[in-house]
Amino acid sequence: MSTATPDSDTKKKMKYIVVTGGVVSGLGKGITISSMGRLLQACGYSVTALKIDPYLNVDAGTMSPFEHGEVFVLEDGGESDLDLGNYERFLGISLTADHNLTTGKVYSRVIAAERRGDYLGKTVQVVPHITNAIQEWMERVAHIPVDPKHPGRVADICLIEVGGTVGDIESSVFLEALRQFQFKVGHDNFCLAFVSLVPYLGEQKTKPTQHGVKDLRSLGLSPSVIFCRSKQPLLEATRDKISNFCHVPPTHVLGVHNVQNVYLVPTLLQEQNLHAILQKQLNLGATSAPELGDWADMARSLEHFEETVVIALIGKYTGLQDSYLSVIKALKHASIAQRLNLELLWVEAAHLEENDSDNDNDKEQYNQAWDKVKRAQGIVVPGGFGDRGFLGKVLTAEYCRTHATPFLGICLGFQAMVVEYGRNICHWEDAHSTELDENTKHPVVMFMPEVDPTTMGGTMRLGGRDTIFMTRPDTITDTTQEEKKTAHLHYSPKHADFSSQLQGLYGSLPKISERHRHRYEVNPQYVPDLEDAGLVFCGRDETGERMEIVELPLDVHPYYVGTQFHPEFKSRPLHPSPPFVGLIQKAHVNKKTETTAE
Ligand code: GLN
Repeated sequence: MSTATPDSDTKKKMKYIVVTGGVVSGLGKGITISSMGRLLQACGYSVTALKIDPYLNVDAGTMSPFEHGEVFVLEDGGESDLDLGNYERFLGISLTADHNLTTGKVYSRVIAAERRGDYLGKTVQVVPHITNAIQEWMERVAHIPVDPKHPGRVADICLIEVGGTVGDIESSVFLEALRQFQFKVGHDNFCLAFVSLVPYLGEQKTKPTQHGVKDLRSLGLSPSVIFCRSKQPLLEATRDKISNFCHVPPTHVLGVHNVQNVYLVPTLLQEQNLHAILQKQLNLGATSAPELGDWADMARSLEHFEETVVIALIGKYTGLQDSYLSVIKALKHASIAQRLNLELLWVEAAHLEENDSDNDNDKEQYNQAWDKVKRAQGIVVPGGFGDRGFLGKVLTAEYCRTHATPFLGICLGFQAMVVEYGRNICHWEDAHSTELDENTKHPVVMFMPEVDPTTMGGTMRLGGRDTIFMTRPDTITDTTQEEKKTAHLHYSPKHADFSSQLQGLYGSLPKISERHRHRYEVNPQYVPDLEDAGLVFCGRDETGERMEIVELPLDVHPYYVGTQFHPEFKSRPLHPSPPFVGLIQKAHVNKKTETTAE
């Protein structure tokens, strides 16, 4: 355990570990940093994390998943880079929008201050105004408590990841700010690490690392630790060479080679004594040996699972798998908890449509897509935007509903379930979402009245919000009068004896909080008819007007569940998300024989 927490010792200084990357992006810098954080936690330190993204966008909310991977949604509604998801999952922390610092954010702040007249007539410049604003931002955000288990507790250590690679024009101002920052916070409180690539071309090559470190040093930043990403374990000779040329002891050159699963990386770093190096470097004071405990057991165990569950993911951005990173992680976590390997089948939703304009009605692609849907033991339709592939999602929902295939629809997937039910069971043939057909006569999914239709950035219904499960008012005994008064808002007499599977999976809680990101919602006017026809909206927001969860009763379908919220964002390796747990459980018992498309 750390000898003192900042709340007990206000003089204690925040320790910063800054990680930059060189050579190429996509090195797994985020996983390396998250793993370092996990190892430090295993020593008893509390850890927070900040990501710097040098692009001009204020946040990732307006960026295409095709280009940038998924937009990760934070508790406060921040739309961030997907690395914040890695930090949250590995470290069990809950970050805010401010934990993702972008060029857009820092310039907006400085320009707003200039317009207010805060600079008192001075010329406002990149150095010192932007660089100062960056330093102030880092220090402020490092002190925001992020550990849900210890509300109010400020972390001991702040990890700062600088996105992009050293040498990019965009990142130079951040690197200059960090160069100044190391003196501001003091030598004992600042440690720089560099993540590099060691490619194999007949032998392990060190030149890219040498050049990366040289670039960094020319900017006045000297790494104390170098992480070398490589396919095979780092050879001693390679380590020595990097040490020689890069001015770090060989023990500070750490090999991070490809391992069977990412959860093994903290152990890999522990074996190379990273914790001891950082303790010394940052004068952290000794602690007992790190205890990775359950985490390490989990990481090792998943190499020995015997059974496999087959899940199909019906998406639109299947070309870039990072677009669905949190959904994939959530499926993985739920499978691990049930000691199952996960086989994921990727299905491009548009390929399920007979007249798909994208693929010229390619019969083979169509058959292959349906083969996968039919082979899957369970299906997930994640969130999305826009028309392409929507019909494919509706057809999948219909298939799963009529073939007892366990199904989880998330956000747009949930909306597709409602559209499908409206069309096929309520016989509203043109039932649609107004996002995709403004003029439909049956707008079963509609634009949310309070959303701003003209500005794209940050205007959706975002972040953590409550969902209240339907309860029969007469069964409420031990709650407050207030809850009793509003219970009718979440209750449909039509489904008096309905028992929600999802509520059971959430430990029978009366209310839950999950994260959101949407502009459209189920039209409450259609709810009575949809419920009369058999759908149960068993979870709603506090007004009872906004539908959050839909299910079919267990005697009708083993698992037909949709959520307006995105449960994937709160899934953790050792605490899988309940809707995914339900899907995997039911999928596992859905024994399939190989089928082919008719
Ligand atoms: N496009 C839909 C909406 O805005 C769904 C959004 C999502 O799936 N995240 O409501």
